[in-house]
Amino acid sequence: MRDFSRDHRWLSINTATVRKSRGVDVPLLDILDACAARGIRAVAPWRDQVASAGLSKVASALKSHGLALSGYCRGGMFPATDGAGLQAAHDDNRRAVDEARTLGAPCLVLVVGGLPGALDGKAAHKDITRARAQVHEGIARLLEYARSCQMPLAIEPLHPMYAADRACVNTLEQALDLCDAIDPIPATADMRPADLGVAVDMYHVWWDPKLQAQIARAGQRRLLAFHVCDWLTPTTDLLLDRGMMGDGVIDIAQARGWVEDQGFAGYSEVEIFSAANWWQRDMGEVLDTCIARHRSAV
Ligand code: ZN
Repeated sequence: MRDFSRDHRWLSINTATVRKSRGVDVPLLDILDACAARGIRAVAPWRDQVASAGLSKVASALKSHGLALSGYCRGGMFPATDGAGLQAAHDDNRRAVDEARTLGAPCLVLVVGGLPGALDGKAAHKDITRARAQVHEGIARLLEYARSCQMPLAIEPLHPMYAADRACVNTLEQALDLCDAIDPIPATADMRPADLGVAVDMYHVWWDPKLQAQIARAGQRRLLAFHVCDWLTPTTDLLLDRGMMGDGVIDIAQARGWVEDQGFAGYSEVEIFSAANWWQRDMGEVLDTCIARHRSAV
């Protein structure tokens, strides 16, 4: 297992972590400057932040700073109530693939969606089986395009509390079942990343009794991203109360050992949504804390 205690060369910052500084939105280009100034080598930006800053400006800022990406957030949200909605999701996901390619991302992260309309507070139906079928079909269709762009897709299983509104893929096992059904890996495979794999976000999967076994099942080729933060007790908000590594109950180092046992050698991406705590602090303090906790708690 890699020793993270001496430096932060394998730290990546998901830019949502410092989306706000002292409660105020931070422009993405300022985030990139602040990361580069601290010797952080990688980031994972969100599409809305990239759109606000301008895709080409972000691409050139990444280049001039020598910043890599650990992923691009995010595509997905496949389910819809009708054909037009499914097509709109597909078209938007193709654009996400194109952006990921422009930015040099190693993968596009997929948050697959749940019941149509639920995110806006009014689910159009209760048929989660149908939503899951649409997710299956949507990923399979997008994968054809993503392959032609050489952009791997990383399915991120979300904690079951998000099954209705954000993702009806809720365990690593379920995500890998999709991978195996849509993109079987031949037995003679080489070690390059699979076209379709998974993003393991500890916030979503830490509780899963099958976690270690499913990480082993995924293997190096399907392990495309590793996201870290912590689970606080109590958690006061289902979405926006993620903890800093070391402040909660997740044994992050143990799970990092499991992914590295499979040959994962990429970045540990810090992804914290924290409306009442970390987004209220100064961005510099948050980044410095991420560096310190990356060394001590990841
Ligand atoms: Zn994540």
